[in-house]
Amino acid sequence: MAERTLAIIKPDAVRKHAIGDIIRLYEGIGLHPLAIRMMRLSKACAEGFYAVHRERPFFNDLTTYMSSGSVVVLVLEGTDAVKKNRDLMGATDPKKADPGTIRALYGASIEANAVHGSDSVENATIEIGYFFAESEFR
Ligand code: ADP
Ligand code: MG
Repeated sequence: MAERTLAIIKPDAVRKHAIGDIIRLYEGIGLHPLAIRMMRLSKACAEGFYAVHRERPFFNDLTTYMSSGSVVVLVLEGTDAVKKNRDLMGATDPKKADPGTIRALYGASIEANAVHGSDSVENATIEIGYFFAESEFR
């Protein structure tokens, strides 16, 4: 099924100059960029994006980190895009991520883990709407 998912290349991966490598990995498995925006998230924007985690002990650190430098926000389209992207990302903790996954290759820590990816089709729709308007797509 053709789906869309939202990905974010996080500040640690941008600082490592891994944007191009990561986009190549998406394209290599048929996750085609439909929209790309490089931006610096405000703390409030990061808090809104991660609102589901607001009760977690790491929420303040996470949103400070996510607003610490530029990110690249992408809408990716492809067959089974949500699951394909989650598989490509690897486990949340880079130390537990399978070899060859983005987090194993580029993640620095459980917090600075290189990429975000929507975890369901429903959340993908919400997350895409947080950053993009439908009128911006081809
Ligand atoms: P995922 O990004 O794999 O879907 P979660 O949705 O559980 O993981 O968490 C969102 C983000 O919060 C993670 O990608 C990571 O940046 C951060 N995070 C998750 N767990 C921890 C933790 N135990 N300590 C610090 N940061 C964490
Ligand atoms: Mg998640």
